[in-house]
Amino acid sequence: MTLTFKILRFDPVTDQQPHFQTYRHDPKPKDSVLEALMDIRDQQDPSLSFRYSCREAVCGSCGVVINGQIGLSCRTQVDALGSEVIVVEPLPNFVIQKDLIVDLEPFWEAYRRVEPFLQASGDVPVKGHRVAEKDMEKVFQYITCILCACCYSACPVATRDDRYIGPAALAKLHRFVLDPRDERPFSVAEKVDGPDGVWGCDTVFRCNDVCPKSVRPADGIEGLRRTIIAGKMKRLFRRNV
Ligand code: SF4
Repeated sequence: MTLTFKILRFDPVTDQQPHFQTYRHDPKPKDSVLEALMDIRDQQDPSLSFRYSCREAVCGSCGVVINGQIGLSCRTQVDALGSEVIVVEPLPNFVIQKDLIVDLEPFWEAYRRVEPFLQASGDVPVKGHRVAEKDMEKVFQYITCILCACCYSACPVATRDDRYIGPAALAKLHRFVLDPRDERPFSVAEKVDGPDGVWGCDTVFRCNDVCPKSVRPADGIEGLRRTIIAGKMKRLFRRNV
């Protein structure tokens, strides 16, 4: 069946304002929105720009808004939308570079702020660092993050405050705080002890709702809050002993 695709277009060099352009396209059965976009680009309009790479929900580069829902275009089947009109827009909370491509630098900048890598001290054991299964279970959901920025886009705090670190970066920091191999000091958690960190979160769970990998970034934010409070209590008791 031929469907109508309304795609947001914007070229900062030539366009005054973002606007919708309409294409008629007959997707193959089980085509994803990404495949439909690729066909439209290849068959109708080579100037249509969008980001993608792996096409199988691993690289996290094809996040967009489809009929009002934030998600990965490679993972959204056109059939499953059950609509004759498919509206595709770029991720919110970012500046549009061209059409569906946004500048993800604020997301990466926040991510760099939490130093998202293992910080273990001493030499690496010959057989590598061992982690007990029960400890691994605690961090596993955060490891599956593919850095698609869908949670950052869905976050109402990131919409109104560009200093807010955002759900993915905070969840990643919590992942390393939980990791028994990581030896960063408590003061690292305190770096996010402010309104641009864990206390900025509105706890509306939109990040959990949109995550295509079932990460629950809000759990990570809650976990960091608990870590920070527990650390402060410990210091207080030590001082009063
Ligand atoms: Fe994407 Fe989920 Fe990672 Fe956020 S937590 S960047 S939504 S995979």
